[in-house]
Amino acid sequence: MENLAYESVIKEIKRRLSIVNLIENYLSLRRSGKSYVGLCPFHDDKNPSLHVNEEKGVFHCFACGAGGDIFGFIMRYNNLTFSESVKELARRADVKLEKSSISVKNRSKRDILFKTNSLVCSFYHEFLRRSKRSKEVIDYLAGRGISLEIIKEFQLGYAPDEWDTLVQFLTAKNIPLSVAERLGLVIKRNNKDGYYDRFRKRIMFPIKDIDGKVVGFGGRTLDGDEPKYMNSPESEIYHKKSVLFGLDKSRDFIRKFDKALVVEGYMDFLSLYFTGIKNAVATLGTSLTRDHAMLLKRYTDKVVVVFDGDEAGIKASLRVLQVFLEEGVSPLMVVLPKGDDPSSFISAGRQDEFQRLVEGAAPLLDIFIEKNIRDFQEGKITRSRAVQEVADVLKKIKDSIEKSHYIKKTGESFGVRENELLSLMKYSEKLEKERFKTKKAADTQERLILKIVLKFPEYLNYLREENLIDFISENDIKTVLKELILNGFDDVPSLLIRFSSGSVQEIISETVFFSDDVPDEATAWKMLRDCIRTLKLRRLEDSLRLLRLKIDQALAMKNFILEKELIKEYRDLVEQEKSIKGGSS
Ligand SMILES: [Zn+2]
Repeated sequence: MENLAYESVIKEIKRRLSIVNLIENYLSLRRSGKSYVGLCPFHDDKNPSLHVNEEKGVFHCFACGAGGDIFGFIMRYNNLTFSESVKELARRADVKLEKSSISVKNRSKRDILFKTNSLVCSFYHEFLRRSKRSKEVIDYLAGRGISLEIIKEFQLGYAPDEWDTLVQFLTAKNIPLSVAERLGLVIKRNNKDGYYDRFRKRIMFPIKDIDGKVVGFGGRTLDGDEPKYMNSPESEIYHKKSVLFGLDKSRDFIRKFDKALVVEGYMDFLSLYFTGIKNAVATLGTSLTRDHAMLLKRYTDKVVVVFDGDEAGIKASLRVLQVFLEEGVSPLMVVLPKGDDPSSFISAGRQDEFQRLVEGAAPLLDIFIEKNIRDFQEGKITRSRAVQEVADVLKKIKDSIEKSHYIKKTGESFGVRENELLSLMKYSEKLEKERFKTKKAADTQERLILKIVLKFPEYLNYLREENLIDFISENDIKTVLKELILNGFDDVPSLLIRFSSGSVQEIISETVFFSDDVPDEATAWKMLRDCIRTLKLRRLEDSLRLLRLKIDQALAMKNFILEKELIKEYRDLVEQEKSIKGGSS
């Protein structure tokens, strides 16, 4: 599957297949104004909420938010990966998929990024195998339950203790350092020209996407330097929220055993893999996202979360519970004894014990409800608070039988009538809707900016000059705008090709269906400048609010020197605010 000349193949598939015809294979559509509508297959739809726009090649559900292009539809509907969906649609469109034979000159920008990462991956790997610290690194990994075979199979590497080893290597290979900078491999020097290596004196773990292509790296110190773990920053090809470490290797095992273990770090993943527990993935320290859950759901509905038994681990697992419930998966959980993590079991030769814990994993929901009962009994929280917390989670259960089971169970445990519980769940739903509304209002400006530049891409330059990205708070919108500013915009279908992540496709499809909000060019220009102004002012107001708090605190502590400094800072910001407000509008 390596290096298919995706972009051109995908464009051809899109040219040949009509999105309306494709979706009509799965549900019936009727014409409504400029688009087509039908019952959405991705949620329990009573009124047709799924809209399809032939010209732009997108679908979007106005109720559940599902959206994207033909590939997005097929991926969701048949639980496929992006490249599987390309294969499937290529077959239907009668487009031949050939191994790429394109020259360096014609290679797309993304290909160059992947190629660079792959070269760097081999470079670090070679270094681990051949450098004078080789034995030390290999011994260290062996002590953590990671063998030489695993080092080879996962191409683990070592970044040497120099400032420019990688810089020199890339220069020798004629890779522009600006490309490596975009991947977060090297960093521009502050005062002088040139770059230096980001990763030094670290064991390197290549992070791969589901097709096994290197998208980033994780680096772990060997000598106890801080930070202990350091990962590549996000880039055009690395979106943390949609990558699960190890899934490229483990997906077939997950499918085969119909079960996935979710662990926290790559060390845990690798030591499990070494002992033959190969149906796992690691979340790499970021909290689990909806994209992660959707990704896993393609392979199994049975998820076992294995987190540390400490307070942080329990907290993390609650977030995980909510994310999975929203995707219709009820996860199980293994609570490890305090101080243990999966790799400590494996390196101590206690894998049987670990296996038994996994076999005996309990529903995370049960663990969560029992924790609330305990907290209530121990007087840590009131009954109403405990019941409300459980109700907040119960309302997310999709399966109605499971839901009524848990309502009954909770009612009995807390001595609350089912009716009461149901009304609490309704109340909590209402609160969530309110919150959703305010959040929507806050990111309306950001969405509007996206709509405007998709209609008038010539304004992208202006966004670049204004450093707009710094002021965007919604992550998906940020991702799309960043990509647009960096690589420009041709049309919606080819923009969608650049994002295989579900939630980013949804933002784009939504934008397309609301593009009528954007009027003629002159008005759009004014709207754009207003939006940017509002975002900047909002940021300033936040800083001012924070400064006021700090000033109060300094006063209370009678720290007058600090107070004076803060007041000066405050005045500067007020001046900035004035000039933005007074400036052109
Ligand atoms: Zn829907």
